[in-house]
Amino acid sequence: MMPFKIHCIDVQNQLQNYIWLLEHTPSKQVVAIDPTEASLVTKYCTEHNLALSQIWLTHWHKDHIGGVLELIESTNIPVYGPQAESSKIPFLTHALQHEDRVNFHDLDIEIISVPGHTLGHIVYFIDALDVLFSGDTLFAMGCGRVFEGTHEQMFHSLNRLAALPPRTQVYCTHEYTLSNAKFALHVEPDNLAIQERYTHVERLRLLGQCTLPSTIELELETNPFLRANDVEAFTHLRTLKDNF
Ligand SMILES: [Zn+2]
Repeated sequence: MMPFKIHCIDVQNQLQNYIWLLEHTPSKQVVAIDPTEASLVTKYCTEHNLALSQIWLTHWHKDHIGGVLELIESTNIPVYGPQAESSKIPFLTHALQHEDRVNFHDLDIEIISVPGHTLGHIVYFIDALDVLFSGDTLFAMGCGRVFEGTHEQMFHSLNRLAALPPRTQVYCTHEYTLSNAKFALHVEPDNLAIQERYTHVERLRLLGQCTLPSTIELELETNPFLRANDVEAFTHLRTLKDNF
């Protein structure tokens, strides 16, 4: 057993953000990924006797970086994030590029560049744990909107993630799975895996439960955006979803 554990903080905001905490259990130190609100992280760490020791950011959007300034006010913990967005995230202490490496205790984390949602968007892949923190690029049964990049860039970024080991667990930032499932069923009504997952996700959400993490394997079966064969098909799907 690896001495790491992942915690979920449900921000309960309109955008349905989750803040993921990666804990090194022997030391009780944690990394906060995309901390929307400082107070939620501080409160959670106090209640669970955890010590915040790093912050990882996937991209510059406010709901991902909103809590950082307050969290680093009284400490000098490192803040990792995309170099390409460092002008928009001035408090980065470690600016990261594609294939850079980050360490957390004895874990080796690989940075993958995935432009599309924003131009500098990065994700954090931990091979030893089979874990991916995918930000707003790959969602459960969906993908992020293409705000800054081109559809071609987003298509290639998603393909990069689709090529990770199938067992990789996908921790994305938002609880959008049910609305994504409705769209997936709309475009692939005969896909049994999508039908099954839709029912499962609907039940979880009725109980107020989190639908994450997903896996790359499950996404390959049920995520229309990963199932698109070419840029044209992807662009068509993304445009449909934007107006769904
Ligand atoms: Zn975003």
